[in-house]
Amino acid sequence: MHKIDNYEIDIKKILTILIKKKVKRILIQAPDGLKNLSIKLSHVLEKHGFSVVLSGGHAWGGCDIVFDEARLTDSDAIIHIGHHGPVRIELPKKPLVMFVPAFYSVDPTRILLEALKQASQYNSEFKEYVLATTIQHHKWLGKMLIEARKSGFNLKAFPGVLGINGLIIGCDYTAVKSGDAVIAVAGGVFHGLGAALWSGKPTWIADPYQKKVNKVDTKKILSKHLYNLSLAFDSQSFLIVVSTKPGQFNLKVAEQIKEILEKLGKRAEIGIFDEISRENIMNMGEFDAYINTACPRLAIDDPELFPGPVINPGELKYVLEKNLEDYSPRDLFLLVPRFPRTGLP
Ligand code: SF4
Repeated sequence: MHKIDNYEIDIKKILTILIKKKVKRILIQAPDGLKNLSIKLSHVLEKHGFSVVLSGGHAWGGCDIVFDEARLTDSDAIIHIGHHGPVRIELPKKPLVMFVPAFYSVDPTRILLEALKQASQYNSEFKEYVLATTIQHHKWLGKMLIEARKSGFNLKAFPGVLGINGLIIGCDYTAVKSGDAVIAVAGGVFHGLGAALWSGKPTWIADPYQKKVNKVDTKKILSKHLYNLSLAFDSQSFLIVVSTKPGQFNLKVAEQIKEILEKLGKRAEIGIFDEISRENIMNMGEFDAYINTACPRLAIDDPELFPGPVINPGELKYVLEKNLEDYSPRDLFLLVPRFPRTGLP
């Protein structure tokens, strides 16, 4: 493993694959926090004779692979840094796409134990804890489980993304099963918030970067979201937002929603966006509400991108029925639309 900026990257493996596949030109894609690492990696690759270009985009997740940039730059390989693998994308034979996880080299065990301590003090009745973590800290999963048990905590990890124990991404929390409470080992609030919304369980974030523990509070963010949904109850016009990011591209779902809304006598337009921004959306004109078929997290983490109430496909049922009584935050993550069972044309 090669260490760059506190991250471990398997450069030997990358070089072996690139040489074997006779790659000449590489496009490197990295999330904003790993851009510096991608520049340093490009220098290493250039020293080995490869031509390298850097993608300036955000690289939001494994759903976001820059095939168009690879074509324009005539790159025969894309190195996508920092995510575990493709999300809802079937990789083509060409260009070669290599997912290169960047493992954070700092051991998160101490901060995990602190989170467990705080959770057990919060409720001494907790018997089982579930561990969820992102790819950056996943190499420590085994050690975290062992040390937690040594300290008397019943901490478990369940198969998550790609069946990998404990692995979560922003839109997949299948690893968060059973248990009385969740410990999310991840930087910032994004993944911990997702785990809490998905599971409905008390969740603590053990942040290995800040070396801090935070209990996730979903109440405020959920009330704001539910209030926004209620504002959409009487909407007559909808903009259905579709992203061009390959793993977020949901045109079929958008067309299905448009058809139903039009049958209900509403106005519905579909807008396709490369980058979803408030400005781009506002350029489409005025609408009463927005339906987000792109990254499901936009509706809860970035609602300000939309000039009006934003609804995810799984939440349409509530809006069309004008009833939030049985609302489940899990429906936020649904990529297929849920319509009312009755009353549709
Ligand atoms: S859809 Fe959103 S949450 Fe899921 S991988 Fe992409 S950016 Fe992350």
